Amino acid sequence: MKKLEPTARQLKSERDRLSSLGLPSLGFCDRDLRTAAALTWRINALKKLKRAVIPGHVYQRPEILLGVADFVGDSYKLAKLCAQTQAKTIVFGGVRFMAETAKILNPEKTVLLPASGAGCSLSESITAADVRALKARHPGAPVATYINTSAEVKAASDVIVTSANAEKILKRLFAKHPQVIFIPDELMGKNLAQSLGKSLETELIIWRGTCIVHDKFDPFAIALYRKRYPGVKILAHAECSPSLVALVDFVGGTGGMMEYVEKTEAPYYMLVTECGLGELARVRFPDKKFVFMCRLCPYMKLVDLPSILRVLEKPEPSDAIEVPADVAAKAKGALQRMFELAEDTAPL
Ligand code: SF4
Repeated sequence: MKKLEPTARQLKSERDRLSSLGLPSLGFCDRDLRTAAALTWRINALKKLKRAVIPGHVYQRPEILLGVADFVGDSYKLAKLCAQTQAKTIVFGGVRFMAETAKILNPEKTVLLPASGAGCSLSESITAADVRALKARHPGAPVATYINTSAEVKAASDVIVTSANAEKILKRLFAKHPQVIFIPDELMGKNLAQSLGKSLETELIIWRGTCIVHDKFDPFAIALYRKRYPGVKILAHAECSPSLVALVDFVGGTGGMMEYVEKTEAPYYMLVTECGLGELARVRFPDKKFVFMCRLCPYMKLVDLPSILRVLEKPEPSDAIEVPADVAAKAKGALQRMFELAEDTAPL
């Protein structure tokens, strides 16, 4: 394919566009903007040519979210929007389990993951054989599985949940079942047991997976920040430890955290999660002040503008996400169940 080259004028206007989107407020200097513009211009031109879309998870780099992503959101929003897209190709700005979810919901489309190593510690903590063994140990208990899992694990599950809807879906499951299995995030499982008033190991059975980003936040720092920034509202992701969650003003998924910031007035906000969300919040809410206690996800940050351009220009067979048809069909059933239970469109 002939290489697309922007003219000097097109490059300048792309640089100005990126600047107007707020990248300078995140530390992008003129040279960074020019480098990014040369890539985003080509990516956006190729997207049109190839009828491709780029969903961007909120933990992705800001130049991806602001410069080339067609829709931005948490796992739930991205899964929903991927199910509705008319595009021919999906280039996933996120990690492997998200790209697999897009493929499960769109088996006829090409789904490309720009960085083959973009995995997830939670997803890698459990296999389908582990799920089958848990089911055998707890017969009759439905398996509610966090979306951060492989296609095979989803296929072995009864319903998928995200941090935005886990509590609601588990409540509905407990209305009919004395025991529920929640996998694989141990810390989120403990938080859910606490908020639902369920005992661990007898009512809520959990697994020992953790997110290597959220399990490291130090609860002792919270008091320090409250003292240093009077009136600060502290928001933590549900994958953080129960001892930290007990000290914050809001706990939930990334979508809920953004909504909380939008709907409240506070002198400062602190988002205890991956750094990408705080960067996005600073751009979306330029009049609000943010204090940072964040960590980078090494998997999420493997995707960058050059790798997105590469898969659009010359995808390798290994960039394409493939899910065997029988696995995809079962996993799709569990995802469909999530959409129905989260949106109250189905009885249990
Ligand atoms: S932030 Fe945690 S849960 Fe999300 S992709 Fe990274 S390791 Fe996985």
